[in-house]
Amino acid sequence: MSNPRVLELFRTHLPPQSIITDQAAVRPFETDGITAFRERPWVVVLPENVEQVRSVLQISHDHDVPVVTRGAGTGLSGGARPIRDGVLLTMSKMRKVIEVDLEACTATVEPGVTNLAISDAVREHGLYYAPDPSSQIACSIGGNVAENSGGVHCLKYGLTVHNVLGIRVQTIEGEELVLGGKTYDSPGYDLLALMMGSEGMLGVVTQVTVKLLPEPPDKRVLLGVYDDLPKAGDSVSAIIGDGVIPAGLEMMDALAIRAAEEYVHAGYPIDAAAILLCELDGSASQVEADADRVSDIMKAKGAINVRTATTEEECELFWKGRKAAFPAVGRLAPDYYCMDGSVPRHAIGRVLSEITRLSTVYQLPVANVFHAGDGNLHPLVLYDANKEGELQRAEAFGGKILEYCVAVGGTITGEHGVGVEKLDQMCLQFSEAELNQFHRLKAAFDPGALMNPGKAVPALARCSELGGMHVHEGKVPHPELERF
Ligand SMILES: Cc1cc2nc3c(=O)[nH]c(=O)nc-3n(C[C@H](O)[C@H](O)[C@H](O)COP(=O)(O)OP(=O)(O)OC[C@H]3O[C@@H](n4cnc5c(N)ncnc54)[C@H](O)[C@@H]3O)c2cc1C
Repeated sequence: MSNPRVLELFRTHLPPQSIITDQAAVRPFETDGITAFRERPWVVVLPENVEQVRSVLQISHDHDVPVVTRGAGTGLSGGARPIRDGVLLTMSKMRKVIEVDLEACTATVEPGVTNLAISDAVREHGLYYAPDPSSQIACSIGGNVAENSGGVHCLKYGLTVHNVLGIRVQTIEGEELVLGGKTYDSPGYDLLALMMGSEGMLGVVTQVTVKLLPEPPDKRVLLGVYDDLPKAGDSVSAIIGDGVIPAGLEMMDALAIRAAEEYVHAGYPIDAAAILLCELDGSASQVEADADRVSDIMKAKGAINVRTATTEEECELFWKGRKAAFPAVGRLAPDYYCMDGSVPRHAIGRVLSEITRLSTVYQLPVANVFHAGDGNLHPLVLYDANKEGELQRAEAFGGKILEYCVAVGGTITGEHGVGVEKLDQMCLQFSEAELNQFHRLKAAFDPGALMNPGKAVPALARCSELGGMHVHEGKVPHPELERF
């Protein structure tokens, strides 16, 4: 529903090309990466600087209008799904690299800069930004902060939280918070860490300072081939348990291998039940020693073959299939539903067997391609939204996978966030006291519950009534949404 007074005020602070209300033109913004969850906002604003962001927030605050912040819209939990009567604040025009400090090994950027663009900007200096989501060509650093994103190299180099040194945040009340900086610690409560993974619920990130790392002198990628999925799963904890921390340790199952091979021809063995991709980096002698150990462990755990890529081109080819795996699997069915649970590494084999069992129960195929070293599973449930009941079955199947992750001591999200998708499972993961504390924290930043309302933290009433209330096609009964 349009709000003429708010629109009029936006027009006094933003250029005309930064305000979109035409319902056909807002359509590309109606969903994030979860295309099953759609809603059209009445207005999309695209500020070009911090002052414009602050104006949008202040006007929205003064008129009690909810705000959903959007980066690149690649999120996989419905976090950037708009609210019909709300403002969609899109950060994609704020994409300047503000400063590269070679002495401090930091880069300071605007929030709309893509993850890959940071490494591109510093590559000539032999530096890079380590967290590398598979969506890195498109996703924004602001979105990475809001989701505490991970990626292939986070096993060794840490998640976003370990690689961001400072941020600037605009609150809904129009204040700027400067959190962290270029040093490693600052006094007071660690609000910087709090903002990591806060899913656009506490404020808008308008500047990010990241840590840059030197490119490692040498690297090698091993590809272990297995005829049995749990054996590949068991190899993961054996490798890390032996004291080797790979730069990346990723796993793909039969369906994902075949899909990727048909799509990008990476040279994967199409009759394998699973492959493990293990990247080792460091000095040449360290890499060689680690490669021998990993190869021995893979074979001892049942790998039928271990191949090694040593040149840059060979390594890239091994990774090409993994990096293209999501779109490749997307070619197998009209729709897929990507889940994101984390489990202790020793439980990977068991959880994969359970996913295979559930696939039969729900009669929906599933492909697994994931950050195995982090124990971060990504089952991709294939379905066809046009077939009666398939979306509901896919959602129920996904929910059961997450419940099993919690049952084996894991979590309902490893890196994609809760958004609207995993609200029900939050009730399983956290106690009433913990959820209450989340609500208090949210109220401290956003007393009117205007920032991304109805997402990430379920209402306590919702948890007590679970069974009757479910997230369905992204529609969520939530008290925060009742007044809009
Ligand atoms: C093919 C594919 C592969 C992926 N692989 C990975 C992966 O390997 N690892 C991984 O972690 N994720 C992965 N993702 C998920 C997604 O790319 C990440 O969650 C990413 O960080 C989202 O960034 P975005 O800019 O697209 O954010 P959006 O989707 O636009 O928003 C995500 C959330 O962040 C909030 N937000 C965005 N910008 C800001 C800001 N400036 N200030 C405050 N809040 C903000 C939004 O409100 C929303 O809650 C993948 C997605 C796809 C489609």
